[in-house]
Amino acid sequence: MNLFDVYSLFDVTPVKALGCRVWDADGVEYLDLYGGHAVISVGHSHPEYIKAITEQLSRIGFYSNSVRNPLQEKLAGRLGRASGYEDYSLFLDNSGAESNENAAKLASFHTGKDRIIAFRKSFHGRTSGAVALTDNPAIVSPFNANHKVTFCNLNDAAGVEAALMGGDVAAVIIEGIQGCGGINLPDDSFMRDLRSLCDRYGVCLIVDEVQSGYGRSGKFFAHQWAGIRPDIITMGKGIANGFPCGGILISDRFKAVKGMLGTTFGGNYLAMAAALAVLDIMEKENLIQNAFEVGEHIRRNIPSSPLIKDVRGRGLMLGIEFNGEVAPIRNALLMQDHIFTGVAGKNMIRLLAPLCLSREEADRFIEAFKARI
Ligand code: PLP
Repeated sequence: MNLFDVYSLFDVTPVKALGCRVWDADGVEYLDLYGGHAVISVGHSHPEYIKAITEQLSRIGFYSNSVRNPLQEKLAGRLGRASGYEDYSLFLDNSGAESNENAAKLASFHTGKDRIIAFRKSFHGRTSGAVALTDNPAIVSPFNANHKVTFCNLNDAAGVEAALMGGDVAAVIIEGIQGCGGINLPDDSFMRDLRSLCDRYGVCLIVDEVQSGYGRSGKFFAHQWAGIRPDIITMGKGIANGFPCGGILISDRFKAVKGMLGTTFGGNYLAMAAALAVLDIMEKENLIQNAFEVGEHIRRNIPSSPLIKDVRGRGLMLGIEFNGEVAPIRNALLMQDHIFTGVAGKNMIRLLAPLCLSREEADRFIEAFKARI
């Protein structure tokens, strides 16, 4: 049997990893500034993280959500304190797309309405509803297109208000910082406008923090730079440092009804052990502050060049936008300098390094990058 060939793959086979470093089958060491699409938060194979998962596996790895799972309760408490959302509830699932699906469903249950407002250049995942919320025609099937979604421009509060006037809107969904669409930051004032518009029209505000959350921007969630509190916050990626896990934080205006949300694997013991270890390590190693400082260090040291149009982002969520295509630079960084980076579209290098990236590692990238442009 062949693999269904949907991924463009680099000819690199990682077999070992530690911190921000990855080794291939030939023993070549790479610096990882991408973390497998922003998944590696506390660093690859952190010893405390490995210990937590393996010890948990030796006790119990899985049982369904038909019994009490104290690890879920422990995570809810820890996450509430770490994120500043102690008064919210936690629902656990398995991925970013599933979190967004659950958020949209919850908003629709709550309001009895069926339209969602999303934004141009958004990305919310690959499941049916999440694709429908995503502004990328290349991945929309006729089935996805049947969902009722209105796309507005980022930072256009008047446009959002016009869409809300239709009266059929359950929720507005926005990424804390747009990732796949090109590291586009909603203005802090726009986030505050969205909060008041949603309040005025009785609509739920969902912030997708799957990529921008869990410390990446230099705050626990990127929307916290704007000082707002959404009704639902969606999470995935870095939440368990590569162990599949997702979840949503839900404000107390939503009433839980038995059976309204559910999943087989969501909140399983191994994912919980991994997620708890992530919060412990983030706190002990002060990784949110580190993400902010090292991210700023990179940003300050990207040289100005006629090739570069813009450098934007927050913390360790950075985009370097070029006037032309970046594939040759990214390929050279990987194949010759042995540094993993990502892209957004054809013209942007996207950096989503583990939050433990050191200044020395950042400097290694900066030197290599300067030599390639
Ligand atoms: N939301 C955002 C902002 C993302 O960047 C992604 C993935 O890149 C998703 C949702 C989907 O997450 P997953 O691939 O875990 O379903």
